[in-house]
Amino acid sequence: MRTGLTDHSAPAPDDAMHGAGDPGEGGRITIDLDALAANWQALNARLTGDGECGAAVKADCYGLGSDQGLATLWTAGCRTFFVATPQEGRATRERLPDATIHILNGLYPGAAEFYVAHGLRPVLGSMEEVAEWRGFIAGRSDPPPAGLHVDTGISRLGLSLHQARTIAAEPTSGFSPGLVMSHMACADRPDHPMNKVQLDRFQEATALFPGARRSLANSAAIFLGSDYHFDLARPGITLYGASASELPQARLRPVVTLESRILQVHELKRGETIGYGATFTAPTDMRVAMVSAGYADGYLRASGSTDEKRGADAWLAGYRLPILGRVSMDMSGFDVSAVPPDVAQRGAFVELFGANIPIDETAGCAGTIGYELLTGLGRRFSRRYLPVLTARGES
Ligand SMILES: *Cc1c(COP(=O)(O)O)cnc(C)c1O
Repeated sequence: MRTGLTDHSAPAPDDAMHGAGDPGEGGRITIDLDALAANWQALNARLTGDGECGAAVKADCYGLGSDQGLATLWTAGCRTFFVATPQEGRATRERLPDATIHILNGLYPGAAEFYVAHGLRPVLGSMEEVAEWRGFIAGRSDPPPAGLHVDTGISRLGLSLHQARTIAAEPTSGFSPGLVMSHMACADRPDHPMNKVQLDRFQEATALFPGARRSLANSAAIFLGSDYHFDLARPGITLYGASASELPQARLRPVVTLESRILQVHELKRGETIGYGATFTAPTDMRVAMVSAGYADGYLRASGSTDEKRGADAWLAGYRLPILGRVSMDMSGFDVSAVPPDVAQRGAFVELFGANIPIDETAGCAGTIGYELLTGLGRRFSRRYLPVLTARGES
């Protein structure tokens, strides 16, 4: 019997996954919840002895869907969750009544009551926020928990070390953080000198608050080694199957597959161009598959090709398909010249990223990262969730 989950219905396996699918759908996003659970457990195992593994679940679990994502992470064993905004916190609380939920964006003005009503913990990130929170908790015998964000070099949110010392020197103020947190700027590059600088500053900051738990590591920092783990890690992207770091071991199981249908296959004669702007000219006679995926679906416009620049590849039955010309709002063209005509045919599904084309490769072709591709996936594609294998849950 599962506890702590508002909705305990396990996502049903979708029989359409390997069949023809909904005849009306252009494309489909398949989310492998077993891979999500396995990735959390792999990170948790990496931290054993070095602290707890939480999860960053902001932006609808990085676009995967919070309903399924939160239930999967909770069942895998995760108990501490990080979101960006208080509204995301409330939505998380509705699904996970017993979870610990931290609000990374800090305290929103006038919203302290909202946090308390939904059991959300602000990570206070400026002196103004600390002052507002102190005012709110003044006189309470049992002040609600809050964390403190100290900036160690990324210069986004967080108190300076100097400000943190000021806070620590005023213990009579009634505020003592339950968590001290900081965020890494360059953890994806293990050789970057900023990493050690931030680590040293974080140690200095946390020494000021000996009673607080300490959290520094995002996904990439977990792979920098146990010095960076502290009491609580907050991985996001690695859970969702994209790469966090230059290190190859920082990529775990792929979670998301994007596939879309071939609308038609047609000839492109040598010298003919394709798409808006006529940016690609066929160097030889080719066969083109027009696929039902465009930038309105989150398939990024910058993935296209020109005569000078290769773009993203798709995949079909063992063949890589180079993109031809620009991505339009609702469709993109791919070269299927090498694919047998009975395989590359109207209605067939082409993989845009997934097990065969890594999401990081597709994102890289568009000059961006897996995070942006995942969180930008549109609402037009149908979604199917592959269930957690029973052996993995309910530990
Ligand atoms: C998003 C975020 C994380 C998770 O980062 P990943 O790189 O996805 O692991 C952790 N901490 C903070 C403060 C964040 O904003």
